[in-house]
Amino acid sequence: MLIETQGLVIRESSVGESDRLITLLTKEEGVLRAFARRAKTVRSTQNAATQLLCYSDFSIFKGREKYSINDARPKEVFFGLREDIGRLALAQYFCELSGLLAPAGAPAGEYLRLVLNSLHFLSKNLRPQLLLKSVTEMRMLSFSGYMPNLVCCAQCACYEDDVMWFLPQDGVFLCGKCYHPDARRAVPLNRGAVTGLRHTIYADFNKLFSFQLPAESLAQLADASESFLLSHIDRSLPSLDFYRQTSACLS
Ligand SMILES: [Zn+2]
Repeated sequence: MLIETQGLVIRESSVGESDRLITLLTKEEGVLRAFARRAKTVRSTQNAATQLLCYSDFSIFKGREKYSINDARPKEVFFGLREDIGRLALAQYFCELSGLLAPAGAPAGEYLRLVLNSLHFLSKNLRPQLLLKSVTEMRMLSFSGYMPNLVCCAQCACYEDDVMWFLPQDGVFLCGKCYHPDARRAVPLNRGAVTGLRHTIYADFNKLFSFQLPAESLAQLADASESFLLSHIDRSLPSLDFYRQTSACLS
């Protein structure tokens, strides 16, 4: 069977001298691994289209157990991601997350749209990296069923407070009056960070990336979203470790 779909190359490895094994986040078939024969040869039109972080039109043979690339043409190569090691590291983290959270063998258009938008803003340096990271983490987790309840304090139902405490494991807020420290991790959020965290989950997609926060609120938002992610993903993320190293070196 031949499948026509758009897809982003989220992982790439060489096989021998001229072939590639790629992992794609596709609109129609979710995450899939496909063999790209002779893709690395200079004359191959598939060469650019099957490189990491390239968004391409694919024609894919779907066999009984394996996928192989029939044809591929690049639509967007995100040059800006390669200009800066921090941007590249964050982009690879978004790829790793989508490979982990998006479905395999089922449509994943909303994941693809999210990652492509994040890569666009990242590539052109149009938004702070921490904002893109939080938006991508929270929205992708909510697509895959990990949806926190950020409407109000989980105990007294008040809508806001000067400080709200976010409990990543439970995915809820507690206000300053209801929060009492215990063994659970809790992330303090000021009003800006609370608004930001709600936005990552509840905003319409076309407004998802349209917000700004002062540096302190943004740092709190980033802490909350990464803690939420790590408390729901039961494994280490090499690309996140790498991103942390690059941002530690650069700051
Ligand atoms: Zn309360």
